Amino acid sequence: MKRVVRIEVSGAVLTFPRLCACCGRPPDPELVVWASRTRGVKLVHSRTKTWTFPCCAECARHMNEWYDGSVALRAFLVAGACIAFVVLVAGGIAEALAVAAAAIALGYAARTIARRRAAALMSPQCACAWSPVQYLGWNGTLHAFFIAQHGYATAFVDANAHRDESTPAP
Ligand SMILES: [Zn+2]
Ligand SMILES: [Zn+2]
Repeated sequence: MKRVVRIEVSGAVLTFPRLCACCGRPPDPELVVWASRTRGVKLVHSRTKTWTFPCCAECARHMNEWYDGSVALRAFLVAGACIAFVVLVAGGIAEALAVAAAAIALGYAARTIARRRAAALMSPQCACAWSPVQYLGWNGTLHAFFIAQHGYATAFVDANAHRDESTPAP
């Protein structure tokens, strides 16, 4: 996998270059990235911000496939834990362990199959199988992202670079 770059852009409204953030082809659907931030100890404030990056239909497909693998793994682990608990209460420690081990093995197998399918759907231009953009969070109007596609990272920084000079802060 290619190395991701950490970038920072500033602005209340960001400009997104109309390219797929994964492969650079013309985009169609959208890719939503988000970050949450919690503040305070006694009174906890939680805020979430989302940004929508352009993405093409082909890349949306391989990202969905990858995501489905993670969902399948979680489903197997949760179901396995529930069944193992019931078996354990019924008095079978060895049986409960066997159920848990089987659920873990099946879950990881399902995830591997989904990840292989995702990899098969990728084009040579694709930056990664999973989301090519991660939103790391914000500080005031400064937003930090990890971007796997170097071309998109450069275009994104350029598109948002001159805002500070043209629009003075209120
Ligand atoms: Zn794409
Ligand atoms: Zn892609």
